[in-house]
Amino acid sequence: MKQKKIAIIGGGPSGLSAAEVLSASGHAISVYDAMPTFARKFLLAGKSGLNITHSEDYERFATRFSDASPLLRAALDAFTPADIRVWAAGLGTETFVGSSGRVFPNIMKASPLLRAWLARLEGRGVSFFPRHRWIGFTDDGHAFETPDGGKTISCDATLFALGGASYPRLGSDAAWVPLLVERGITIAPFQPANCGFDVAWSDLFQDHFAGQPLKSVTATSRAGTFPGEFVITRHGIEGSLIYTHSAVLRDDLREHGQAALSIDLAPGRTLERLSRDLARQGAKSSFSNRLRKGAGIDGAKAALLRELAPETNRNDPQELATAIKALPVPLLRPRPIAEAISSAGGIAFGEIDETYMLKHLPGVFAAGEMLDWEAPTGGYLLTACFATGRAAAKGIEAWLGRR
Ligand SMILES: Cc1cc2nc3c(=O)[nH]c(=O)nc-3n(C[C@H](O)[C@H](O)[C@H](O)COP(=O)(O)OP(=O)(O)OC[C@H]3O[C@@H](n4cnc5c(N)ncnc54)[C@H](O)[C@@H]3O)c2cc1C
Repeated sequence: MKQKKIAIIGGGPSGLSAAEVLSASGHAISVYDAMPTFARKFLLAGKSGLNITHSEDYERFATRFSDASPLLRAALDAFTPADIRVWAAGLGTETFVGSSGRVFPNIMKASPLLRAWLARLEGRGVSFFPRHRWIGFTDDGHAFETPDGGKTISCDATLFALGGASYPRLGSDAAWVPLLVERGITIAPFQPANCGFDVAWSDLFQDHFAGQPLKSVTATSRAGTFPGEFVITRHGIEGSLIYTHSAVLRDDLREHGQAALSIDLAPGRTLERLSRDLARQGAKSSFSNRLRKGAGIDGAKAALLRELAPETNRNDPQELATAIKALPVPLLRPRPIAEAISSAGGIAFGEIDETYMLKHLPGVFAAGEMLDWEAPTGGYLLTACFATGRAAAKGIEAWLGRR
C-alpha cells in the first residue's frame, strides 16, 4: 500500500496509544496538540500516583463503564489490564497491585513512562507538532492555529483524541464541540464525573475544618454502600469515596433537584452496639467525651455530626447512634467540571461504527474521553483511553487498507 498520511489530533493517552499501533503500519503519522507539551493530564494523574489500571476480575472490570460497557468491550478485550502492565514494563515501568486492587507504577509517577513512550514513538518515525490547535476542517484535511499563524494540512485519515471537558487548563477544553456539531455529529452534553459537591457549611465549620480528611467511614447513596475516606473543603466535600457516588448523585441532583448521601461515622459498630456504648457513658460527661469514649468519634467527625445533625437529642443514645450511623449530607450541586477528575458526555456512540469511525465523516475516527462513556476512578479511565485509542488505530488501518 502507498504510504498514507494520518493525522492524530490530541496527544494524550488515547492519541499516543493510536500512534503506537499506527507507527508499525509504515504510514506517515503526525500527532498535533494545542499545548506546548503532550499528555499533560496523564502527567498530572502521575502526581497522585498514576493509577494506570485495575486488577479486579476482568468480567467485573469490563462492566465499569456505565451504559457504554458493552460498546467498549471489544476494545477492552483487545488491550486488557494485564496487557497494560506488560506494555508499561516494556517501557521500563514495572507496576504493582495496591491493597485495593488498583495498579500503579512502582515509582508512582507518570513522567518516566511518558518520556520513554514519546521517545519510542519518535524512534519509530512519528512526528510531533505541539502548539497546534485544531480549529476546523478544510477540503482535504485540517486547519490549525499555531504560534506562527494559521496552518492547513492534508491527510488521508484522522483520529480525534481531544479529551473530555475536565481540567481545561491541561488542554482538554472541549472547544471542538461546536465544530463537530456543525458537521451534524450528536454530542451528549459534558458533565462533571468523579467530582466533589457543594454543601452550605456554616462559617464556623468551614473555617475550622476545610482541608480535613474523614477516614474510615462508609458512604451510602443509590449507588450502594462503600467504605473509604473523603475531605471537607471550603465549598463542600470531595475525595475518592465521594467520587464513587458522584455519577448517581449528579444525575439525581439534575433530575430531581436533590440527592441522598449519608455517612456512617462509626461503620465498625452496629446501631444496637453503638446505642449501648453511648448509653453506658455517664450523664455528667460532656457531649464531646461521650462521643469520644462511647463512639470513638472526635475532631472533624464530631464537628460534622454537630454541623449536620444539630437537632439530635444528645441525651438519647438511640437517636444519637442513628444520626452517627446515617448522617445525611445535604448536597447542593456538583462542583464545576473544570475541577472534576473526568467528564461524562461527549460524542454519542450512535455516531461511530464498531471501528470508532464517525459514520457521517468517513476516514475520521474518535477515541478516548471525548466519547460518551464514564467510569469511576481506579485506573478504568486510562485503560479505556489506551484501549479505544488502539481500537481506533486498527480501524484506521483497516479503512485505509480497503481504499
Ligand atoms: C487530576 C487528575 C488525576 C487523574 N488520575 C487518573 C488516574 O490515576 N487513573 C486514571 O485512569 N485516570 C486518571 N485521570 C483521568 C485521565 O487522565 C483521563 O481520562 C485521560 O487523560 C484522558 O485521555 P485522552 O487522551 O482521552 O484525553 P486528554 O488526556 O485530555 O488529552 C487530550 C489532548 O487533546 C488536546 N486538545 C484538546 N483540544 C485540542 C485542539 N482543539 N487542538 C489540538 N489539541 C487539542 C489537549 O491539549 C490534550 O493534550 C485523572 C485526571 C485528572 C484530571
